This record gives sequence, structure tokens and C-alpha cells, in this order.
Amino acid sequence: DAARVTVLGLGLMGKALAATLAKAGHATTVWNRTPGKAADLKSQGIAEAATLSEAVTASPLVVAVLLDHASVHDALDPVVGELSGRTLVNLTSTAPNQARELAQWAAANDIAYLDGGIMATPDMIGQAGSSILYSGTESVHAKYKPLLELWGEAAYFGDDAGLASLWDFALLSGMYTMFAGFYHGAAMVASAGVSADAFAARAVPWLTAIAPHIAAQAPAMDSGDYSTDVQHLNFTKAAADSIHQAGVDAGINPVVFAQFKALVDQQVADGHGAASFTRVFESLKNSGK
Ligand code: NDP
Repeated sequence: DAARVTVLGLGLMGKALAATLAKAGHATTVWNRTPGKAADLKSQGIAEAATLSEAVTASPLVVAVLLDHASVHDALDPVVGELSGRTLVNLTSTAPNQARELAQWAAANDIAYLDGGIMATPDMIGQAGSSILYSGTESVHAKYKPLLELWGEAAYFGDDAGLASLWDFALLSGMYTMFAGFYHGAAMVASAGVSADAFAARAVPWLTAIAPHIAAQAPAMDSGDYSTDVQHLNFTKAAADSIHQAGVDAGINPVVFAQFKALVDQQVADGHGAASFTRVFESLKNSGK
């Protein structure tokens, strides 16, 4: 059964989500705060609501793809009465506690709420590799799963509405710090006149080959057993000191690598030099306490 769906917010992401729904045969209504952004969608059979109230009442399922947490309240508080009794899937990026606040607001107003974290760029929506992480009301996820899967994999993480965002931001944190490490390495070789392009040609296969070591470290992190025969912290400290010094000698800003070095230094100073370097995880959990 093709459900009627309303998409609020026609940034690049909202447009991609709406177009994918319409292509699959869903009667799709859109609304944007600034009018005039739906021109290309109308030719795809998508209806542009003249008012937000009209948009919300057009469908039992309302999808919000706005800027941030504040913009969701800005837009939806005035139409909370019309939203009551409907389902809201909020794909706006919010921090976990902001998602939890919206879930409470929805529950207090008889709105079924599912929060989502989009792990894709707009051009990836509906393509292989796209995924959206969900948490909140499980029955909403179960009911609309085939529709949600039009956009990409639709994994469900639990009824705490903040979980999707927590996973989303944890994954993004890994991505950005990996990028930061790439920039740091590129700056090191740039001091010898090497282009970022040439560095990337070696960095991509290297990081790809090393990526499975992430999973290999997880059992120690989960069990707390950091005993090892290889790459203990005393060894890693010697390596980290040298890498840091190489960056300093190259005249680059050492800030990125210095953070990893500080974690290693703290572990060694705390007497864990014989343990696996994976033990730096303990310096991050609970603010390192
Ligand atoms: P855009 O900046 O392109 O669009 C933002 C949208 O929010 C516009 O429709 C804008 O309306 C609307 N908006 C902003 N403030 C308000 C407000 N106070 N009241 C009502 N509407 C408002 O963003 P994207 O489409 O790229 O992203 C949308 C969401 O998706 C964001 O939360 C983003 O983090 C998330 N996301 C985006 C990804 C991407 O690659 N683009 C990837 C993963 C997540 P107006 O036109 O009137 O300004």
C-alpha cells in the first residue's frame, strides 16, 4: 500500500527524500519555509502545500528534514494540534538529548515519534551504501520499514530516541578524526613538496588495509583484558614520540597527533606500559577517570 507522506524541508536532503518517495509511487506532499523551492519536484508529481498546516494534514506520516533542533520546534510548535494523532519521523540532525526532548514533546502531544540519523549525502539516497539509523517508537519503524528502506538501509537501535543520533555522531566522530589524521599526514609530506593527491594515493590503500584492525581491538575494549605480546604501550610511546617530533621538525601544527600522543603518555604514566596500546580507550571512557 503506497502511503501518503509529507516531507517538511526542501534543502538538498529533503528534496532527495521526497523525490525517492514519489518515484516509488507514494502520494508525496512537500513544504518549505521559504516558498519556491519545489519547482523541480512538481514535475515529478509531488504536491507543494501552500501552508504548513495543509502539509501536515495531507498525510498520516510527516517527515521533518530541517536544519537543527531549534528549527524543528520553530516549524512544528505552531501546528502541534494538527500533528496530534499522526506519525513524525524526524531526520533533522540533532544531538541525542535534543532527540530525547523531541520524543517527550511528541509523546505529550499524542504524536508517534521516530528519530533518524542519515548516514548518506543527498546523492546517495536510494542508492547502495546509503543508510539511516533509527530509534524511538518501534511500531513506527516496523510499520513503515518498507518505505524507509526506499532511502537506504533502515536499521533500528532501540526505543530511546537518542540512540540513533548517538550512533550517528559516534560514527561521524570516527570519520572526522580519520580525515584529521589524513590532513596531518598530508601536511607532513607537504613539507617535502609532496602533493595531497600523491599522499592520498598511498593513504587510501594503507587505511583500507588497516581498517580491519578496528574490529580486532574490540574484544580487549569489551573485556578490559589488554594483555599483549605485541605493540605494548611502551613501544607505542616511542613511536608516538617520534611521529610527533617528525611533525614538529617538519614545521607543521602538531595539534592532531598530539592528542593521540597525550592519551598514550597518560596510560604509560599511569603504569600501563606493558599493556596493549588499545588501552588508550580507557583514557577516553568516563572522561578518562
Ligand atoms: P539545507 O541547509 O540544504 O536545508 C535546511 C532546511 O531547513 C531548509 O529547507 C530550510 O528552509 C529549513 N529551515 C532552516 N531553519 C528553519 C526554521 N527555523 N524553520 C523552518 N525551516 C527551517 O540542509 P540539508 O537539506 O542538507 O540537511 C537537512 C538535514 O539533514 C540537516 O539536519 C542535516 O544535518 C541533515 N543531513 C544532511 C546531510 C547532507 O549531506 N546534506 C547528510 C546527513 C544529514 P529555508 O529554505 O526556508 O531556509
